[in-house]
Amino acid sequence: MDKLPTPTTLLEAVTYFSDPARADAYIVSRRWPNGVACPRPDCGSASVQAIKTRRIWRCKDCGRNFSAKTNSIFEHSPIPFTKWLPALWLLANTKNGTSSHELARALGVTQKTAWFMLHRVREAMKDEKPGMFEGEIEADETFVGGRRRATMRTELGHKKMKHGPFEGKTTVFGMVERGRPSRVKAMVVPNHKRSSLMPHIRANVLPGSAIYTDALRSYRTLPNEGYAHAFIDHMVTYCEGRVHTNSIENFWSCFKRTLHGTYIAPRAFHLDAYVDEQVFRFNAREDDDAGRFVSVLKNADGRRLTFEALRTANADLRIGQRGPIHRPRASQ
Ligand SMILES: [Zn+2]
Repeated sequence: MDKLPTPTTLLEAVTYFSDPARADAYIVSRRWPNGVACPRPDCGSASVQAIKTRRIWRCKDCGRNFSAKTNSIFEHSPIPFTKWLPALWLLANTKNGTSSHELARALGVTQKTAWFMLHRVREAMKDEKPGMFEGEIEADETFVGGRRRATMRTELGHKKMKHGPFEGKTTVFGMVERGRPSRVKAMVVPNHKRSSLMPHIRANVLPGSAIYTDALRSYRTLPNEGYAHAFIDHMVTYCEGRVHTNSIENFWSCFKRTLHGTYIAPRAFHLDAYVDEQVFRFNAREDDDAGRFVSVLKNADGRRLTFEALRTANADLRIGQRGPIHRPRASQ
């Protein structure tokens, strides 16, 4: 079966995917361009039999039934592709993200359902195999959330907050590889100490590269790690020739606009997902809407995120907790 063509605009996408049979056929043609195969990771057999009346297949090898949703971010979702595909289109392409309230109104689902759908789509925006950065890299950290208050309510009553710019905030670390186009990587880290930042630099930047940072002491050992390091002291100036962190600062300002403008007050625990979402759109910014949509859809395969995982994640959250913060990984 040949891949069916992808719509090019939101209007076309909504119209095209509004027919359940066509939305299903589109997904099937994209997921299995060489013919339907069993999607279970331990099987993968191409020997399958369609059960036409229910839009499912039976695998002749492992004997299990499956649908186009099996072993993907859509697994066990009662929401039809007629709603999933426009949701995916919106999140992939709206510059400042899409809130669960907006999506709920647009699709006619509850806000809770929309919230869960968006988190599943973000799962597919995660870049699981990004290449190493090299050349000129800007590295920087930023702090988000946690309004400064004298006291915070906890389960045990009121707790006095310590003062200071980082108290109650979550630290996000990011790197931009300069080039055409530049690329970004970012992740939630426990704090801005050297021991929290260095492993991410080692894992993502090839030795021999030049790294530009601000004057934070955590970066001072970069030359010992095999990198050329130059820093700019923001108390003095913001740019000295090629030594500046303007690109990563630009990414932070887009990220914060999305967070504060669209998502208002996301839980610290879920921040990783919003970081992934912003990184995806930044790195795909030269692609067109259809291209971004197809990229997310490709990653939908083989990834899962259960409501239970997200809910349990919430239960573990302590107010004012700064980390380590880990998001549940997609289960197999
Ligand atoms: Zn099978």
